[in-house]
Amino acid sequence: MPVIKIAQPGTLFVVAAPSGAGKSTLVNALLSRDSNIQLSVSYTTREPRVGEVHGVSYHFTSVDDFLQRQAQNEFIESAEVHGNYYGTSKKWIDQALENGQDVLLEIDWQGAQQVRLFFPQMVGIFIVPPSLTALKERLYGRGTDSEDVITRRLLAAGGEMAHAPEFEYVIINENLDSAMSNLCHIVQAARLRFAQQFSRNPTLFYDLGIHAK
Ligand code: ADP
Ligand code: 5GP
Repeated sequence: MPVIKIAQPGTLFVVAAPSGAGKSTLVNALLSRDSNIQLSVSYTTREPRVGEVHGVSYHFTSVDDFLQRQAQNEFIESAEVHGNYYGTSKKWIDQALENGQDVLLEIDWQGAQQVRLFFPQMVGIFIVPPSLTALKERLYGRGTDSEDVITRRLLAAGGEMAHAPEFEYVIINENLDSAMSNLCHIVQAARLRFAQQFSRNPTLFYDLGIHAK
């Protein structure tokens, strides 16, 4: 039987949001429910926050090391966000998708634009807060950032949300349970796309006489 590969079997999800919209909360809840999705751990030159673990939250690194990796084309995408560098390992993503693993990137809109050039079939999900007031309250309520950092992030929020139209899906994170349910439905629907189903079930599709276009 010929093995026709029309896509990598894994699905690539890219989730973006202005800081404080609830992206990490939603992504962490999804990861704890769905063991087939792996989160890509980014490289960053940002200082670790209290509770963040090297190699789990991020690969925390120096500016010199980051720029060296960037020059060696290690990153599928990289960007400066809120004054720090962030980047995603290309090798890790390729391997995970080839192994049939679904991969989720929690990155900003600049990174999402770059990833789409390599993976046009990626599923872009943008998370917005129910209001600017809620966004501000959440950033203060989280209690992880200084006044300065919060002000900078609030000022950047409008510019980031202007990029929401570049994403396939938008979730309004007002009620956490509803937003979570929306996210799970998007993940389910993406896995049922023809290319993904075909790639995961080549024998069945061959037996049924279903062929790729
Ligand atoms: P992001 O990763 O987008 O910066 P977080 O996930 O850290 O945002 O969420 C920011 C804060 O808002 C956290 O304190 C989180 O508990 C809270 N939060 C997230 N979603 C909701 C929601 N639907 N309603 C109320 N608070 C929320
Ligand atoms: P934080 O410092 O709050 O963890 O993240 C700040 C912003 O950087 C968030 O919008 C987050 O999604 C984004 N970010 C995190 N990792 C990456 C990455 O690898 N690439 C890009 N482009 N953005 C990232």
